[in-house]
Amino acid sequence: MAATCHYLLSSPFTSGLPLKTTRTTTTKTRPPPFPKAPIIIASSARPLRAAVIGGGPAGASAAEALALGGIETYLIERAPSGSKPCGGAIPLCMLSEFDLPSSLVDRRVTRMRVLSPSNRAADFGRSLLPHEHIPMLRREVLDAFLRRRAADAGARLLPGLFTSIRLPLSDSDPYLVHYTASPSTPGSLAGTPSALAVDVVIGADGANSRVARSISAGDYTTAIAFQERIRLPPAGMSRYEDLAEMYVGADVSPDFYAWVFPKCDHVAVGTGTSAAKPDIKRLQAAIRARAGPKIAGGEVIRVEAHPIPEHPRPRRVVGRAALVGDAAGYVTRCSGEGIYFAAKSGRMCGEAIVRAWKERGVVTEADLKTAYLRKWDEEYRGMFRFLDLLQQVFYGSNAGREALVELCADEYVQRMTFESYLYKRMARGDWRKDLGLAWRTIGSLVRAGVMGWEVDRLRGIGADSS
Ligand SMILES: Cc1cc2nc3c(=O)[nH]c(=O)nc-3n(C[C@H](O)[C@H](O)[C@H](O)COP(=O)(O)OP(=O)(O)OC[C@H]3O[C@@H](n4cnc5c(N)ncnc54)[C@H](O)[C@@H]3O)c2cc1C
Repeated sequence: MAATCHYLLSSPFTSGLPLKTTRTTTTKTRPPPFPKAPIIIASSARPLRAAVIGGGPAGASAAEALALGGIETYLIERAPSGSKPCGGAIPLCMLSEFDLPSSLVDRRVTRMRVLSPSNRAADFGRSLLPHEHIPMLRREVLDAFLRRRAADAGARLLPGLFTSIRLPLSDSDPYLVHYTASPSTPGSLAGTPSALAVDVVIGADGANSRVARSISAGDYTTAIAFQERIRLPPAGMSRYEDLAEMYVGADVSPDFYAWVFPKCDHVAVGTGTSAAKPDIKRLQAAIRARAGPKIAGGEVIRVEAHPIPEHPRPRRVVGRAALVGDAAGYVTRCSGEGIYFAAKSGRMCGEAIVRAWKERGVVTEADLKTAYLRKWDEEYRGMFRFLDLLQQVFYGSNAGREALVELCADEYVQRMTFESYLYKRMARGDWRKDLGLAWRTIGSLVRAGVMGWEVDRLRGIGADSS
């Protein structure tokens, strides 16, 4: 034991500080030395060490929660000045829950227009209360803010590309996190392979998660989302002052929807699909055609695309490593929404680690599974399944989409939808109104079943995939 303690004091890993290696070391010789002697990591004699990979909403929120709880926290982000391709719509409750200043918000949407395959429009917004809106922001602004706040709480930001993890040999061994430092990493040479010994790892590195691969978390299917940022002439921009549009139809997406979302000085125009990934550019051309004169004269200032997970990964906790946000697969299928769920899961996971460490001086796989995974599933699994079902019923055919838009005009539907979306809770309805809604839904589907085929025939599209 004495020898172990001595090793702990003298090991470069003990401080948790990044361990520099040279290029030649990694390419020609064995990886950095790894202790063979057992290390008691769960000792309250020193703080727990955590590495968070990925500095999006999930990673930044996890790092903040960990640092606030006194955990020695490292946040590795490969592109601190980059911007995640994203529509940037968040639910209203996120502003207060995550204490986000209103200066981060580009636009406050109070009218959400849903357009059917036949361009019939339903305007959401009549049921909004005076203070209610959908905040729209740019991800480069949100992510930078959240990362800065994590740093203010005590997390160390390490700009760099995470490459791999050496897994622990026993319950008490550390994880060895390998990354390549970027120019702005404090105290390290740019491009230098570095390693960090930590007790827990949070994978918040998005849909292409290397952490998930490193811990064998299993695969999930992804959709692809494509988006153009278009700067419109002043008249065009003022049309979208407080308006966002969602277009549904087999022409713009066979399984999801396309959108025009307003930002400070441009609109984000995009679409997503899982069923027709190779056709994404054709679908994008179709949404531009549908939006037509409203975006005419606009200048494309950025083109971007990124995968979106469709389901949670088979394993989200493996040992003392946990996945959060897109890396875990927390995006609702019906709306493609993931920012709030990323931040929420990051914070929930960080707080679970802090609690276990403070209460028992140890963090185990069981702690992560109980205090993070089970809690997450209890809170959100029902909501995700419900939205999955809605996607299957309404996005599978143009008939379903016409029915969706017809229902969206219903004031009760609007109130229930906004309640659920803005406040992230399943709205509690009135059973009499729910019964009425069920009848109206069936009526809409029946009517649209006839009308949808007619729309396809008139537009020469033919029956879509379903
Ligand atoms: C086109 C598009 C539009 C969308 N629109 C919306 C919307 O309007 N509203 C909404 O709620 N959701 C939307 N989403 C989904 C939303 O963007 C994601 O759910 C959300 O970004 C997930 O956050 P995250 O922190 O889990 O992952 P990400 O935001 O993907 O962050 C992962 C971070 O990890 C970093 N990283 C990755 N690999 C490494 C590595 N090897 N080393 C170091 N760092 C690494 C990345 O640089 C990135 O900063 C959209 C997605 C797309 C693609």
